[in-house]
Amino acid sequence: MRRTRLENDVIVSASDLKKYFPIKRGFFETLVARSDISVKAVDGISFNVKKGEVFGLVGESGSGKTTTGRLLLRLASPTEGKITYKGKDITDLTSKQLKPLRREMQIIFQDPFESLDPRMTIKDIIAEPLRIQRVAKNDEELEERVKQILREVELLPPEEFMLRFPHEMSGGQRQRIAVARAFVLNPEFVVADEPVSMLDVSIRAEILNLMLALVQKRGASFLYITHDLALARHMCDRIAVMYLGRIVELGGVEAVINHPMHPYTKALIAAVPVPDPASKRIGEVISGEIPSPIFPPPGCHFHTRCPYAHQRCLVEDPPLVEIEKGHWAACHLFDTPLLS
Ligand code: SF4
Repeated sequence: MRRTRLENDVIVSASDLKKYFPIKRGFFETLVARSDISVKAVDGISFNVKKGEVFGLVGESGSGKTTTGRLLLRLASPTEGKITYKGKDITDLTSKQLKPLRREMQIIFQDPFESLDPRMTIKDIIAEPLRIQRVAKNDEELEERVKQILREVELLPPEEFMLRFPHEMSGGQRQRIAVARAFVLNPEFVVADEPVSMLDVSIRAEILNLMLALVQKRGASFLYITHDLALARHMCDRIAVMYLGRIVELGGVEAVINHPMHPYTKALIAAVPVPDPASKRIGEVISGEIPSPIFPPPGCHFHTRCPYAHQRCLVEDPPLVEIEKGHWAACHLFDTPLLS
């Protein structure tokens, strides 16, 4: 599935991106507590998505993956940092200024039951972005484009599916509709946020392969958000592993999965079930929950769960450094020796 040759042009970049959500509190709490408490959903991340690549954001729930995807599409505004799209700074663009870019940037949500309006027919759901962007000359062209994309997502015959409502379709068929709606405008950058996690295991591969085929056919760039490393390996060219709003490891998918550097990545890989119980695991499975992003641990955010944590890890935030060409990790084991 993976492309052997990638273009090096960057389509989307994030630079020291932060998103903090202020917490609403009562009057008494405001008097007795600090006034600057916020959820640090994304806490200073930098990375590029290259043209034509599938880039994975991997991590547990609460790691900041979804917020990152929404920021890159400017469905949310960052607290700090910069986002560029095809070299243009889009960080502070207004909704009106973003409208022409909406045609080029699309999202596929996790839940195919929530993301489709139950009162609309499939034809109207898929035609909506075409109407908003005024890309069809007339009703005939609009209908033909809807039929064409239904054929591409293998909902056949399209004439039959166009007249249905979402509740008349299975979960897999609904996610095909969500994919059709995302691709009907021939986008250049698509974010898919856990697009198969709510589907039956038996149909996940079909939907993922369908998305990959559409991405490759159009030469689009794809940000794939998942908690599932096995799926990321199947889908992605490069991945970034996130923990509590920060990127802890980034690199080519084979390098990160076969030669993980960060203890958190090793723990994620160790948690993936292996077909052969006798085969050697790369890392130790970690226990415990991800800490609250309201009060993330100081220093390395991972130190509360890390088997290698040392004194320095409790106070000093490790920078993301390039350990091997194209393979980055944020861990004091790799920058300078740990102090005793
Ligand atoms: Fe573990 Fe320290 Fe590395 Fe963080 S910096 S991952 S606590 S060894």
